[in-house]
Amino acid sequence: MIPLSVPFLNGNEWKYVKDCLDTGWISSAGSYVNQFEQQVAHYAGAKYGIACMNGTVGLHIAQILSGVTADDHVIAPNITFIATLNAIKYTGASPILIDVDPKNWQMDLDLLDAYLGDNTIEKEVDGILYSFHKSTNKCIKAIMPVHVLGNIGDMNRLQEIATAFHLDVIEDSTEALGTLFQGKHAGSFGKFGVFSFNGNKIISTGGGGVIVTDDEELAKKAKHLTTQAKASAMEYLHDEIGYNYRLVNVLAAIGVAQMEEFPTLLENKKRMDSYYRSQLSAVGDIEFQYVSPDVEANCWLFTFRTKHMRELLAYLNENGVQSRPFWVPMNQLEMFKEDIYVSTDDHSNQVYQTSISIPSSAGISLSQMETVVQTIKAFYTTH
Ligand SMILES: *Cc1c(COP(=O)(O)O)cnc(C)c1O
Repeated sequence: MIPLSVPFLNGNEWKYVKDCLDTGWISSAGSYVNQFEQQVAHYAGAKYGIACMNGTVGLHIAQILSGVTADDHVIAPNITFIATLNAIKYTGASPILIDVDPKNWQMDLDLLDAYLGDNTIEKEVDGILYSFHKSTNKCIKAIMPVHVLGNIGDMNRLQEIATAFHLDVIEDSTEALGTLFQGKHAGSFGKFGVFSFNGNKIISTGGGGVIVTDDEELAKKAKHLTTQAKASAMEYLHDEIGYNYRLVNVLAAIGVAQMEEFPTLLENKKRMDSYYRSQLSAVGDIEFQYVSPDVEANCWLFTFRTKHMRELLAYLNENGVQSRPFWVPMNQLEMFKEDIYVSTDDHSNQVYQTSISIPSSAGISLSQMETVVQTIKAFYTTH
């Protein structure tokens, strides 16, 4: 079976993990944590990085630090991995789900702009302007663009809307390490960006995340909150409810080695993407995700649309090519049935019903890609 996506561990991972074991620095203190934070922040063009257990908890902390509470709304796209929405629900806030653009599968910004224009009023609270939802009376505190599949929407437009409606931008850039919009890194546009290093991401620590920000004060607070909010180096004095969300040194050690390999892995992903695009462009009714000329995508997980998604999915998995459907849109999940879903044509459902992801490991070989392409072509000879 050619796997969908497996980690690529051919660098110094063994050496650095062994170093942790040999020196006893396996837990929450140790130099790899700082090194990993700095590497990721530096790479993504942000001033500060705060390592945490995974991307989901990073998104939780970013919202707490944006002042999101149970009385607020947070905006997110209707097509994303569940973690984005779970992180919103951890704060008690109510998501507003925005349908996606059927071409690039990112949040539909025209729809977002029009919805906010029609449904919010501006109010001043303690000298600060906010947008309140006219019918729920809740404050819309933050917006979480998700850079779906390592592609990215128009960040200039998104920033304009966020500024006009007083929204903090928290980028769910968990899939988008290495992605650029007009030469600027995904994760460096918002007040916060959050990266994930889960096993299926472009590089991995097994499980891990890094929050990035340019704000020194917020970076300190993020570190504080992810490490039980300990207020004294010596005393067990804690000044608020904190979280044990830290990343341990052994995993950060893997991260440091993975970051060293990252430029090579990114090149491999791009090569894979061009290969699939060139080989599959005239096959059956296959349609690719649109990537704007403003965007240099990290090509995280190759996904395309076809009317025959269900049959192709079964066919590929039966013929040694591991493939997966796309995420069930958030508005279709039981937990979010009561939440606001903004849409005119339910593009989310159309994208979901027709999208399929194919093997995309950074270490995939040319002969494996040839097999994937041949198997897909064989399917379309009868469809
Ligand atoms: C992977 C992912 C996350 C969560 O990251 P974890 O490290 O697995 O917690 C959040 N959002 C999206 C869109 C993801 O793909």
